[in-house]
Amino acid sequence: MALHSFPSCCTDHSLSQLSSDCDEMTMRHAVVVALVLLAVAAAPAGAVTFSAKNAASSTAGGKRFDREVGTAYARKVLSDASSSCWKVFKQPSSGSRKPVAAVTLAVEDIGGVAFTSGDGIHLSAKYVGGITGDVKKEVTGVLYHETTHVWQWNGQGQANGGLIEGIADYVRLKAGYAPGHWVKPGQGDRWDQGYDVTARFLDYCDSLKPGFVALLNAKMKGGYSDAFFAQILGKNVQQLWKDYKKKYGG
Ligand SMILES: [Zn+2]
Repeated sequence: MALHSFPSCCTDHSLSQLSSDCDEMTMRHAVVVALVLLAVAAAPAGAVTFSAKNAASSTAGGKRFDREVGTAYARKVLSDASSSCWKVFKQPSSGSRKPVAAVTLAVEDIGGVAFTSGDGIHLSAKYVGGITGDVKKEVTGVLYHETTHVWQWNGQGQANGGLIEGIADYVRLKAGYAPGHWVKPGQGDRWDQGYDVTARFLDYCDSLKPGFVALLNAKMKGGYSDAFFAQILGKNVQQLWKDYKKKYGG
């Protein structure tokens, strides 16, 4: 077991502290073996850990995060959102999912709304500070979107960026966290416009064949082609977009 798979309580600092206390090689070995056994007991195969921290708690937005959202709630959202992703992607067992050991959130003094890099979600404290309305609900929705980026396949980097963002908003939509300012079904100019436009379109595609988004995501593990739409639904994506617009009078 590699060091990086220890739970977060076992930092390098605590390990070096232990080893300086125990000079004999055999003692060091015993301590390491004990730690490995502890880690195995605490984290059964396939278990995912979730953690959240506020690194901007001195800023106005960071203070608002602590007051109206909180790290304990955010950590639960990461867990719930991950379960939502596995449900949408029809991945009941860890073996079928992207291999992710930990999902982390850091609230930071950065611009924009949020971004996800690898398994780490970064949320802008400034953004949280500027939300009008229900802060907790809006942050929850953003976290559902970002958590999807952790779990979705991206076609080995070849997938259409609009589709990636659309799938992330689709998971947010299905969880009931679509905000009021989103486009309505049938609105938008292109299927791959991204975000809410593509999420609404994917919802239409999924209505034609329930589980469509799960099949599409599964195909995106190894690469990407617009032909995936035709392979699953029997119609190419441009035709599907025309049918979708027509359904809503567009
Ligand atoms: Zn995104």
